[in-house]
Amino acid sequence: MMSQDQQYPIVETFLSVQGEGIFSGARAFFIRTGGCCVRCPWCDTKNSWGRDSDFIRLGAMELAEKSLASGADFAVITGGEPCMHNLEPLFKALNSAGVKIHLETSGVIFPGENAMKYCDWTTLSPKLFARPATEMLEIADELKFVVGNLSELDLYDAFLEAAKNAGYVWLNPEWSKRADSDLLKAMFEHVLKKGSPYRLGWQLHKNYFVR
Ligand code: SF4
Repeated sequence: MMSQDQQYPIVETFLSVQGEGIFSGARAFFIRTGGCCVRCPWCDTKNSWGRDSDFIRLGAMELAEKSLASGADFAVITGGEPCMHNLEPLFKALNSAGVKIHLETSGVIFPGENAMKYCDWTTLSPKLFARPATEMLEIADELKFVVGNLSELDLYDAFLEAAKNAGYVWLNPEWSKRADSDLLKAMFEHVLKKGSPYRLGWQLHKNYFVR
């Protein structure tokens, strides 16, 4: 079997608008892979948990064709935890089709240099309870922290030393806490105090009720 025919467990693919990070507001084609080894308590995509057999399977070439046909500015490879899978054939197929590749990952698994050389943008969302691989921290273009408690804020600084390539470090309120004025105020003050690369973030797409 040629590498481009690699099959992936897929939860869903859809055209939408990127709601987080520096590409917020751009049209994007999302490829959500199945399976997650991280299992955050506040996860909003628990339908991505499970075994391979719980999901449909699509090939790298088919996913690249869908991405190209969507007309989106780029494809977002997300999960679940997409790095549980061999991403090289998918990235290669997307790259051959001329589709820009944005990876969203917790960073606990490094997909390897052969895959990452095709990746145009990497968003790393590190969890305090599941430390990302050092290689992922080093190559991430942006970090995104989901903040659920005031006490977490100072702990995030520990990731920044290794994340030398990250131009943006987003603090997003955990969605169920988005109206918690104490938490939002603390996040606001944290960014005021620390400055760049910290940024206040939001899950824009959820306000539009599209996805
Ligand atoms: S890493 Fe992502 S998909 Fe996995 S549990 Fe956390 S939020 Fe959910």
